[in-house]
Amino acid sequence: MGSIVLFGPPGAGKGTQAQRITEHTSLPQVSTGDMLRAAVKAGTAIGLEAKSYMDRGALVPDDVILGLIEERIAENDAKNGVMFDGFPRTIPQAEALSELTEITHVLAIDVPDERIVERICGRLTCGTCGTVYHDVFNPVPGDGCECGQYVEKRRADDTEATVLTRLGAYHEQTSPLASWYEERGLFHRVDGDRAIDDITTDLLYVLQ
Ligand code: AMP
Repeated sequence: MGSIVLFGPPGAGKGTQAQRITEHTSLPQVSTGDMLRAAVKAGTAIGLEAKSYMDRGALVPDDVILGLIEERIAENDAKNGVMFDGFPRTIPQAEALSELTEITHVLAIDVPDERIVERICGRLTCGTCGTVYHDVFNPVPGDGCECGQYVEKRRADDTEATVLTRLGAYHEQTSPLASWYEERGLFHRVDGDRAIDDITTDLLYVLQ
């Protein structure tokens, strides 16, 4: 089995869907955003370099991202493929990736621009297990997160100020990848402006 790419604008629900799909496939989730946030938290050289880009909502340079990816997919759990979440985000990243692993499906979660700000600005993460919630669309259950140890976390870049820059980066640098993958017959579009369960059902159907 090869690898899967989850594609879409910031706030489309890629992380949420990735967590659900990993329960149905044996593919580990590889999120470059999560890896970069871990590097920033740990204060590594990569984290220090990436932070200035992330804080303003710009893409981190391709060589930094590709270094992280090469290291990650050399790990043992990645030998049968992985599910990429938030990667690739530029044509050079996709070209480099095609040399590293076979991509079997690119699953695009479509959400119109006007929905993105409200989705990103209400976003919450459980600091213990990483489950993603939303103040309005996916509230934390009354008795807390499923993991039993809910710790509320909001991403530093989930603000109205950065979301427009992130959306701009998506349209300029990332969305050209849609036709790049379409030409290769790998691209599948799913309406992401619906209930979370319905989106998961459609994504799993495409993967069958
Ligand atoms: P995400 O968690 O996917 O929304 O990513 C958060 C931030 O990390 C982005 O706004 C970028 O600054 C950076 N980032 C994550 N993945 C990539 C990537 N594949 N290429 C460039 N920058 C990335």
